[in-house]
Amino acid sequence: MTQKFTFDLQATDGQARTGVISTPRGDIRTPAFMPVGTAATVKAMLPESVAATGADILLGNTYHLMLRPTAERIDRLGGLHKFMNWDKPILTDSGGFQVMSLAGLRKMSEEGVKFSSHIDGSKHMLTPERSMEIQKLLGSDIVMCFDECPALPATDAEVSKSMQMSMRWAQRSRDAFGDRPGHALFGIQQGGVTQDLRAESAEKLREIGFDGYAVGGLAVGEGQEAMFGVLDYAPDMLPTDRPRYLMGVGKPDDIVGAVARGIDMMDCVLPSRSGRTGQLFTRNGVINIKNARHADDPRPLDEACTCPACSNYSRAYLHHVFRSQEMISGMLLTWHNLHYFQELMSDMRAAIAVGAFEAFQKKFHEDRAAGDIEPL
Ligand SMILES: [Zn+2]
Repeated sequence: MTQKFTFDLQATDGQARTGVISTPRGDIRTPAFMPVGTAATVKAMLPESVAATGADILLGNTYHLMLRPTAERIDRLGGLHKFMNWDKPILTDSGGFQVMSLAGLRKMSEEGVKFSSHIDGSKHMLTPERSMEIQKLLGSDIVMCFDECPALPATDAEVSKSMQMSMRWAQRSRDAFGDRPGHALFGIQQGGVTQDLRAESAEKLREIGFDGYAVGGLAVGEGQEAMFGVLDYAPDMLPTDRPRYLMGVGKPDDIVGAVARGIDMMDCVLPSRSGRTGQLFTRNGVINIKNARHADDPRPLDEACTCPACSNYSRAYLHHVFRSQEMISGMLLTWHNLHYFQELMSDMRAAIAVGAFEAFQKKFHEDRAAGDIEPL
C-alpha cells in the first residue's frame, strides 16, 4: 500500500473522469460519493455496513466534533478512525460552512470566526490555523482549507471580497498544514456564479498549490441550473491531474450532472437523512415508503437492488416499521439509500471506463422518467 497521497486518472469520457486516489488508508475509486458521518457515525449504520455499501471514504464534520466530544479528546483516544471504528480514509470539512449555518452569535473578522456553540452556548474561535490543528488532531486523511462561503444571492462586490479573504485563508491553511506525507490538503474555489471570480480564485489556489481542489460555494440554494452553469466551466479551471470535489452534492441527478462536468468526489447527507424520513432513492426515482399504497405490497422496494432492505423485506414491512417508528426502519432505509448511491457511482465509473457515459446518462434519465412500478 502506498504511503503517499496520489491520484491516478485512468479514463475520461467527454468531461467525465474515472480514476483512483491512493492513500495510506486505502484507495478511493472516483467518481466517489462520501457518506456523511457528522458526529463520528453515519446515523443508523455500523461502519462495516457503510463499507459493505461500497463506500471507500467518509466525511466527518469539524464543527460538530470540535464541540462534542472535542478534537483533543478524540486525539487522546487514538484519533477519529479508531474512535469510530472506520479504518478507511476520512475527509473532514473545515468547520467554516457549518459555523455559518449552525452556530449562534457569529463574528467574522480577517482573523477568523468567533461563535457560540449551538449545543451549550460556549464561546469558540475558528481560524485557518485552528481548523488545521483540529483536523490534524482528528487524524483526517483529506483536510479542507478553512474558507468562507457567502450566502447567495450576493452582489459581485460582496462575492469578490469574500473570495479574496478565502484565498488569504487558503494560504494560511497551507502554511499551517505543513508537510504531512500521506495526508492531503484541498483548496476550495470560491467566486459564486461569476466566471471571472471563479477564474481568479482558481489561479490563486494553483499558485499556492494543493493536493486536490474543491468547487465551493455551490449547493447552497442556487438551484440545479445555476449550479450546472458554474460546473460548465469551473472544473476546467482546476488542475486536471488532481481530484476535484464538489461539496454538499447532492440528489442523484445532481451527481450524474456533476460527474458529466468533470467532478470526481461528492458528499451529501441526503441518502442517510432521507432514509430516516422514509424517502427512498431508486433507479425509478424517489419512493415515499409512508404512502398507504405500500401497506399490502409484498414486493421488494427494488427487485434489482441487492441491499438487505430489498433482498429480505417487502414494501409492506418497510412501510410498517416506518409507520411504527421502529429503529430498524432507519437502519434498513438508510442502508438501501447508501447502497443506491454507491451503486450509481460504481455504474458511472464502469461506463466512463469504457466510453459509454452518454448511454449511461440516457438510461439513467429514462429509468427515472418511467417512475415506480404500478400499485397492486
Ligand atoms: Zn435496496
